[in-house]
Amino acid sequence: MRTVYVNGDYLPETEARVSIFDRGFLMADGVYEVTSVLGGKLIDFAGHIARLERSLRELDMKKPAVFDDLLEIHRELVRLNGIGDGLIYLQVTRGSDGDRDFVFPDPETTEPTLVLFTQSKPGLADNPAARRGIKVIGIEDIRWGRRDIKTVQLLYPSMGKMMAQKAGADDAWMIEDGHVTEGTSNNAYIVKGNRIVTRQLSHDILHGITRAAVLRMAREAQMQVEERAFSIDEAKAADEAFVTSASAFVMPVVEIDGVAIGEGRPGPVATRLREIYLEESRKAAI
Ligand code: PMP
Repeated sequence: MRTVYVNGDYLPETEARVSIFDRGFLMADGVYEVTSVLGGKLIDFAGHIARLERSLRELDMKKPAVFDDLLEIHRELVRLNGIGDGLIYLQVTRGSDGDRDFVFPDPETTEPTLVLFTQSKPGLADNPAARRGIKVIGIEDIRWGRRDIKTVQLLYPSMGKMMAQKAGADDAWMIEDGHVTEGTSNNAYIVKGNRIVTRQLSHDILHGITRAAVLRMAREAQMQVEERAFSIDEAKAADEAFVTSASAFVMPVVEIDGVAIGEGRPGPVATRLREIYLEESRKAAI
């Protein structure tokens, strides 16, 4: 049984409790982060905490703990659960003032709820899907307008994964005005010639922590990066496609709506970026 963290306590998962009036439960009034663990160490931890703080600020939500305390909780959960490779999920909600009301509770009297738990994933970085590549379908992006805030409103992305499953694919890329915003739980990229193309940062997409690291490493490796929107048709005609996220790292995409991308196999750019990202991230892990 896992040991999880709830508001200051480390507990067996079956004993962890949150109020039914918690605004995360009633209103999706909460934000989250997922940090991967490789070899017992945290990948891109500072990036995830910086984004968490930004999400909280954008929603006028109180910070539940400072950086050093959050680092300590992450490390303690890794230790208590014996995590070699896996993920740590962190969620902060606006808490509960003991009733349901659209108006935010007074932050002076209502504490945020802080929950963390681990997911053990032995061999996380050696996912066979990375050797095969994944298949995606295009779906309409009907999410709200502040996708840069990492809220727990994940119903539509979850429905998108189900649509993909039903279509015999692995994931979905969401499309707005003919252009790809992002994957259901990852950022989307194409490669044409020697250029890597990915949508520019705005309120339309989540500012992926893996995206930032991968683009930095690509530029350091003298690869050309273009941050702009691309259409789903442009993607289907690309040489390569891939996605990035904290849990999938760099994952090649080999098919979009049944159309093979390039040779229909993971391409050299995605493969190289995955290697570079994993190597550099392991070195910088804390
Ligand atoms: N976009 C969306 C919609 C996501 O849910 C995620 C994963 N949390 C990402 C992009 C990738 O972000 P990161 O690299 O920080 O995991």
